[in-house]
Amino acid sequence: MGALTDTGHEAGVVSRALRTVQTLATEVVEQIAIENGVCLYPIPMRVTDTQSSAAEIVQLPCGATLESKCPPCARRARALRAVQCRQGWHLESEPVRDPAAATDDQRDLVMVRAEWEGWRAEAAALGESTEAIDRAIADLDEAIEGAGLRGDVRGRAGAVARKRSTRRRQDAPDLPRRVMRRTTLGQMFTGSAGRAFRPSMFITLTLPSYGRVRNGVPVDPAAYDYRRAARDALHFGKLVDRFVQNLRRVAGFDAQYFASVEPQRRLAVHLHMAVRGTVSRADLRQIVAATYHQVWWPSCDEVRFSGDRLPAWVASEDGAALDGDLEGAGAYVDPCTGEVLPSWDEALDRLDADDEAAPLHVVRFGDQMDMQGVLAGTPDADQRIRYLAKYLTKSLGGGIGAEDHERAAHAARLVEALRYEPCSPRCANWLRYGVQPKDAKPGMVPGRCRGKAHKPENLGYGGRRVLASRKWSGRSLREHRQERRAWVLEVLGLAETGDGGREVGRYLWRPVRAGDTSLPTRRVRLLREVARAQAWRAHLAELLARANDPPPMSESSLSGNVDVLIRG
Ligand SMILES: [Zn+2]
Ligand SMILES: [Zn+2]
Repeated sequence: MGALTDTGHEAGVVSRALRTVQTLATEVVEQIAIENGVCLYPIPMRVTDTQSSAAEIVQLPCGATLESKCPPCARRARALRAVQCRQGWHLESEPVRDPAAATDDQRDLVMVRAEWEGWRAEAAALGESTEAIDRAIADLDEAIEGAGLRGDVRGRAGAVARKRSTRRRQDAPDLPRRVMRRTTLGQMFTGSAGRAFRPSMFITLTLPSYGRVRNGVPVDPAAYDYRRAARDALHFGKLVDRFVQNLRRVAGFDAQYFASVEPQRRLAVHLHMAVRGTVSRADLRQIVAATYHQVWWPSCDEVRFSGDRLPAWVASEDGAALDGDLEGAGAYVDPCTGEVLPSWDEALDRLDADDEAAPLHVVRFGDQMDMQGVLAGTPDADQRIRYLAKYLTKSLGGGIGAEDHERAAHAARLVEALRYEPCSPRCANWLRYGVQPKDAKPGMVPGRCRGKAHKPENLGYGGRRVLASRKWSGRSLREHRQERRAWVLEVLGLAETGDGGREVGRYLWRPVRAGDTSLPTRRVRLLREVARAQAWRAHLAELLARANDPPPMSESSLSGNVDVLIRG
């Protein structure tokens, strides 16, 4: 007995020590990977040559934009966004978009996407967590979008826009309307020396006050309007859309923008926007004041189901023509009476029929507004571009120090206020207020919606961090990436070899499934990528040294250029 205990004890000590060494090793390997611009969480793909059947594993970067997730990928994302921002801000001719058909790359991505969708269904059927798969799918969706395909590849059911009378209720604000010029370019001005210039603007828009704050913390938390703060954040994206519509109407041209959504110290989101072209400061003030968005959603002020008394899902086999709805998979019913809750569409119809109905929420900007004119190529423009791209890599709710208890408590109160607010028509929280969410499915629990907006790191804003209008630069992110890569290769006198030298259409890309025994450990895979990055760097340095006419590339920019090349 004693011996057994001793052995057990010893084994415990050894394994603990071993674990420490392993943890350390992983940290060191990650540090090396970061220094070499290598993605920390590469996605392994098996690439099979359809002619020879030979297969190899290729690592795709995870493509994270948050520094807290993957610093090297975030750095590349930031650099690329800065390029995109710079190219569009002071364009002097209309951007031309090539409406080319889906390339092979896009088709490959969509195929891979389809496969993951299958695995997701498989995992869900087995009752396994689909979180990792969901993350991979979200990344793929972004890659597909980056590859120039627009919209949701699933082609969601119910995508047909409802022609609702509620649309009428979005009254147009009282603003001057100018004749539209068919251009996306700002107006040209002539300076005193006869020099022509085309100014653009940098605008900052904030939300209203919800109560007095000091150092980012409400002076009186009980009086701070958390519900309004939560709802404003949830609908902030729509408010920005309305602002752009109004801006274009007043400006009299198809103004283009590149904006980033950022956190304020008081944990409200606000917006920095680079706009191509200008309007007068007076016009802008008027536009900001007149812009609002009405949320015509069913009421959610009265809690109808909570605690253990929650609506129950009834599959349609049991209750036959329960609802007469599309697929008719089932519906949520009142747990006591068995009465079917109104579907999302029915709830909206009721709202329409009610002449007394008021919008659930109206969101507007606050009084604080800032606008600066910015000229192309000035240090001011550069600084603002860096600023716009910088926040992309930080999460909205991050940056609260561990010792900052008051702000952490403030953040927690906001998250609590967001917990039961419906984030979208599909939000599970609708059940709490007696309405079936749009596209309701079994397993929905109020307070447990997985929508982005409810997550503490997003402060109630579920949209994209960077908003670039379609005709900003006329290029997708992927095209910007390819352009940068091509430029580096040209400077170096190297030929473009395509995707790692692979002939397009000949290779089959498949994600390697977790648990595949042929897959080396992550540490080994990271070290291999580091070796590859170092080989590139050595190769570039050699080319630079050999060149008779060295390209304008310093040692320091070498690292950034290796980034472009290893990104592939
Ligand atoms: Zn990464
Ligand atoms: Zn939700």
